[in-house]
Amino acid sequence: MSNDLNRATFDEVMVPNYGPAKMIPVKGRGSKVWDTEGNEYFDLSGGIAVCGLGHCHPELVEVLKQQSESLWHLSNVWTNLPALELATKLTSLTFAEKVFFANSGGEANEAAFKLARKYAKDNFGPEKVEIISFFNGFHGRTLFTVSVGGQEKYTQGFEPLPQAITHLPFNDLDALTAAISDKTCAVVMEPIVAEGGIINATEEFAQGVRELCNQHNALLVYDEVQTGVGRTGELYAYMGLGVTPDILTSAKALGGGFPIGAMLTTTKIAESMGIGTHGSTYGGNPLACSVANKVLDIMMRPETLAGVASKRTLIVDGLNAINDKHGIFSDIRGKGLLVGAALTEEWHGKAKVFLNAAIEEGVMVLVAGLSVIRIAPSLVIPDEDIITAMEKFAKAVDKVLADV
Ligand SMILES: *Cc1c(COP(=O)(O)O)cnc(C)c1O
Repeated sequence: MSNDLNRATFDEVMVPNYGPAKMIPVKGRGSKVWDTEGNEYFDLSGGIAVCGLGHCHPELVEVLKQQSESLWHLSNVWTNLPALELATKLTSLTFAEKVFFANSGGEANEAAFKLARKYAKDNFGPEKVEIISFFNGFHGRTLFTVSVGGQEKYTQGFEPLPQAITHLPFNDLDALTAAISDKTCAVVMEPIVAEGGIINATEEFAQGVRELCNQHNALLVYDEVQTGVGRTGELYAYMGLGVTPDILTSAKALGGGFPIGAMLTTTKIAESMGIGTHGSTYGGNPLACSVANKVLDIMMRPETLAGVASKRTLIVDGLNAINDKHGIFSDIRGKGLLVGAALTEEWHGKAKVFLNAAIEEGVMVLVAGLSVIRIAPSLVIPDEDIITAMEKFAKAVDKVLADV
């Protein structure tokens, strides 16, 4: 059967909401991927910041094998040991005291936004329903999460939308000061706006948001689906900002490629999610939780996070070398191994051209919006692989520039 399957099959049988590349990967190890033709690729995309420990990390393979032979699924009518172990780890490693498990980032955010509304209603009455979030933010694809997200293209056509959501410019404390009120139940932000262009929150903004939330009894929700689990060099990005949120969502790298999402919060806030208020069939299932337990163990080894800064330097050096030659980047942003290279005005809207050229040279990168190239590799990618991959990417850029 698989001999008859190719990229054309996608157009025949898949809903056309994605436009995948021509090659079809069949195997991954560490930071390398091979396609159906046996071509090798250096993966600087990490499955969109999911494969934080690379592909088929041997310890993750082992734990998944073991768990798959003991227990797959129970439902939340029973609890299970991997879920209890994971919740214990997450609460001991973060500000949080309580954890809710889901299967994706969007679901973790859906839980967070529902909880914020419910908590406000329980504690402050029925008027406190407004959610404030930021333009270019991304929080998932459910109707509530696209509505809180700040990109109109993702809500168009899906109206009527959930109500009482206000979008403001990011990093603009004056705008938030003017908009926030006692009707605000939550302010939702990514510590680095990821999908929307790799825009770092300034420390001043992050701390100002925290203070305004305190003044108005609004919950501060950090969407760390992309920035979390070591990506920025801290376990969670809030730890580097000197700000503690009230609710934090995690997914992507938490499962290293096995689907899982988590919402973290305090005991007091969690009280508003009493028995029967929310749930998920698969959330907290033993397979996902056992993998995530191992992911956290590996993340917490000192050498894992300690390598992030020097690996970032190798990537940024590679990007700077490209820029010295071609002057195509106006800014190199992000933190740790979430790197954004913003294209100059001349190249606005063309990020995908570079992504496609990179694949031709055997390197997988990402875009963040139309005008930013995003690099988010495994946190344990060997330095040699970064160097080779950046050389290949430089070659891809040379070719794009030669064609204009
Ligand atoms: C990817 C992402 C999501 C959505 O996660 P899914 O697992 O695709 O539902 C939400 N928020 C942020 C910041 C993300 O990067």
